Amino acid sequence: MTDVYTPCLCGSGKKFKFCCYEIQKRGEVIPATSECCKFPIYECKVLKNWKTAGISPVHVSRELTKDSYAFVSYLVDFWCLGVKDTTLKFGISKADLKHIYNKSDELETVSYQDARSLILGANDFAKALDIVPHSSWNGMPSSFIEAHLAYEKKFSFGQNGKPFYFSGPYDHERYDVEKIINKISKAKGHYTVLV
Ligand SMILES: [Zn+2]
Repeated sequence: MTDVYTPCLCGSGKKFKFCCYEIQKRGEVIPATSECCKFPIYECKVLKNWKTAGISPVHVSRELTKDSYAFVSYLVDFWCLGVKDTTLKFGISKADLKHIYNKSDELETVSYQDARSLILGANDFAKALDIVPHSSWNGMPSSFIEAHLAYEKKFSFGQNGKPFYFSGPYDHERYDVEKIINKISKAKGHYTVLV
């Protein structure tokens, strides 16, 4: 349940209900602003086996008020595509967070800097292949982790450093799969495509 009386993530100082709530209700993207980063990071989580899984949600939450959190989940493809999807939630409680975490396999807590290195590093790996992140990355989700600032290049991406594309169930709706395959082939990577 979203607490709509939580401070708005855009940093206007208004309550969410009287600020960006209508924008979100219309399904539009909440404006990108660096203001959201004034809210302290609460925690970051990723699948324990993200490296061998190749894909994992990276969960990042910020504390808006006591027991009210803003949460962005980045679905990250570490082998090829970078950010594949994002989910944004406002004014959720600790219990809500736990509920979200319980839906996936075993997660581990990572530092904010590591979460940034994973997400931004995967995006840069994709960029080198001429692949752009999913459109939902633009706006609030990218501001939320200060994508404009430098990050530590701590992790390596790709499967053993090589791009590996495995298509997901919704890829045909979201990507030009043929184009991706061409880009992967050019980079001497591998792919598996579900039909
Ligand atoms: Zn707002």
